Amino acid sequence: MHKAEVISVGTELVLGEITDTNAPFLSRELAGIGIAVERRGTVGDNPARLREDFLQALSRSDIVLLTGGLGPTPDDLTKETVAEALGLALETDELQLRRIEDFFRKRTLPMPEDNRKQAMVPKGCTVLYNENGTAPGCWIKHGSKRIALLPGPPREMKPMFRQLLPLLAPFSSGVILSHHLRTVGLGESRMAQLAEHYLDLTNPTVAPYAKDGESYLRVSAAAATREEAEALCRPVLRKLTELLGSYVYAVDEGLAQTVTRLLRAQGKTVALAESCTGGGIAQALTELPGASDVFGWGVVSYANECKQALLGVPSETLQSHGAVSAECAMEMARGIRRLSGAAIGLAVTGIAGPGSGGEAKPAGLIFLAATDGDRSLERRLETGRGDRAHNRLYAAKQAFDLLRRLLLGI
Ligand code: AMP
Ligand code: MG
Repeated sequence: MHKAEVISVGTELVLGEITDTNAPFLSRELAGIGIAVERRGTVGDNPARLREDFLQALSRSDIVLLTGGLGPTPDDLTKETVAEALGLALETDELQLRRIEDFFRKRTLPMPEDNRKQAMVPKGCTVLYNENGTAPGCWIKHGSKRIALLPGPPREMKPMFRQLLPLLAPFSSGVILSHHLRTVGLGESRMAQLAEHYLDLTNPTVAPYAKDGESYLRVSAAAATREEAEALCRPVLRKLTELLGSYVYAVDEGLAQTVTRLLRAQGKTVALAESCTGGGIAQALTELPGASDVFGWGVVSYANECKQALLGVPSETLQSHGAVSAECAMEMARGIRRLSGAAIGLAVTGIAGPGSGGEAKPAGLIFLAATDGDRSLERRLETGRGDRAHNRLYAAKQAFDLLRRLLLGI
């Protein structure tokens, strides 16, 4: 299998001001056509360091893709640096120059002299035209090696990558296909422990990772065709699903999506009473098109007065157990269900942090409740962390899981 390496260029990337989304995109796309990305690097707009990283990448990989540093400003030097390192002269591409002039004419803007340099390309390269900006890309042949230069802005880079596909085809060896077995409520290390015997497989490979309060197993197969790769993944996905049982909520589908699909299939609606998540659950639900089929009512009941006045949480409950309690969560769930007429009431109350609610109520203590009138589920979480963003996200994820369990009768 041919090896590729991606170098993301830009001082804003190494400083952490911009998150690199191009390299992950390229990794996924290349995997999809059977080209392995084995290394990725990031380097600032510094010709000496860029040259060093580029030559190193070129010495060990068949294909080097660089993104960024193709802008008109003097700090953008990727093209110049790569051409110099390969001993190639730069020459003006007349078609590209006309395209850049057109770009400014259409916008009735004067063309800055700096943009003229964007029409310069390494001698003998294949030019990749940029429909969404002024920086052309390049595909350079260098002996048996290939180099691609792509612009930094993702909305320019992504469509240009399409032009690379036929050029990459001779390097493609089948497909690498990945599925993600998604679990909730199970820590990454516990999941890895349970799946231990599968982690040594070679085709498909099975690898654990954690993201946003969930744990995943990535199952990846390499094969000549998509069908063959699917056939390699299928039995392993089935066995892993058996092994991890009800912790598995889906393959390749988000949690909010899974829950929405279940609600829709059962013709049910959910209403929300959120305290510490501040509407985060409603946000996640309404991000999905067609959310109104399954969701119509949500209350952010941050204050006790709201919990009492709107949701009918009894003052005795608040006095004897406090707002952050299993009892209060259940009253909130019952209250919103009654108020809305929804099939299911789902509620969250907790201490998001970083401060605690006193000794007995540490940051990260969260109570969840769900009820459909017949059956009620509750859950107590204790993250042990004062990380507000994590606690809020985690609470929302767990709330979806509780709802999923209620819907599936688990
Ligand atoms: P460039 O002029 O080609 O260096 O890129 C200009 C802009 O593109 C940067 O300021 C970023 O906003 C964006 N950009 C560059 N590289 C990346 C990357 N790897 N991932 C996401 N955005 C990027
Ligand atoms: Mg730049």
